[in-house]
Amino acid sequence: MKIDVLSLFPDMFSGVFGQSILKKAQEKSAVQFQVLDFREFSSNKHRNVDDYPYGGGAGMVLTPQPLFDAVETLTKETSEKPRIILLCPQGERFSQKKAEELSKEKHLIFLCGHYEGYDERIREYLVTDEISIGDYVLTGGELGAMVVIDAVTRLLPGVLGKEESHLQDSFSTGLLEHPQYTRPADFRGMKVPDVLMSGNHKNIEEWRKKESLKRTYERRPDLLESIELTKEEENWLREIKDNKTT
Ligand code: SAM
Repeated sequence: MKIDVLSLFPDMFSGVFGQSILKKAQEKSAVQFQVLDFREFSSNKHRNVDDYPYGGGAGMVLTPQPLFDAVETLTKETSEKPRIILLCPQGERFSQKKAEELSKEKHLIFLCGHYEGYDERIREYLVTDEISIGDYVLTGGELGAMVVIDAVTRLLPGVLGKEESHLQDSFSTGLLEHPQYTRPADFRGMKVPDVLMSGNHKNIEEWRKKESLKRTYERRPDLLESIELTKEEENWLREIKDNKTT
């Protein structure tokens, strides 16, 4: 996958792209990152990228020309249509489902805003997706782009050590992940559940599924509304609910 980022603060990305899984993903050639300062594409002699809003009001607005030109330069030698993603608090709320969808693409371009906002024509005619990382307002789109890029990159084949290691992650199954324990079995009197040390894989699997359901019911019951449970899982969920009310 090729990921291009257009930002006015490209240095913000070097730490994040140079560490951990994102660094490894590049070393394994699963992904190629390029971060460009879109001020370089400004045709204005002062390299301006923003201007006052028509109609008046506070704050500056990003002009369309630098971003349109930057995207045209990035796409001129390819026939494939990239996804052009605008980070924006008004966009679709980012989710694991969206990360999975984007991880199937070959080329992503992220547009990071700054200042008060964008000229509406960028939104209307240039981008394919608008993504928000949550209901709060950040100073710029850079942190949002990093969040989305991290979530997408770790899904690319071969990036995580064990291919299946993201499959049990929270949200991948539609549920929150079950609790995990490691050594020691007894830490200051706090013990690991016996079942996990029983060696009985069937019982362990069942315990994990039940705990995953219980945790989702306790913390994010809204997630249960959008997944289909097996008959067995429905029975477990009923037991969990009964135990809570008794
Ligand atoms: N005036 C804009 C509004 O009310 O929608 C907010 C502009 S914000 C100060 C500047 C930039 O930060 C936005 O253009 C966007 O790129 C980014 N940003 C802010 N909050 C974000 C969020 N929740 N998710 C993704 N990007 C965000």
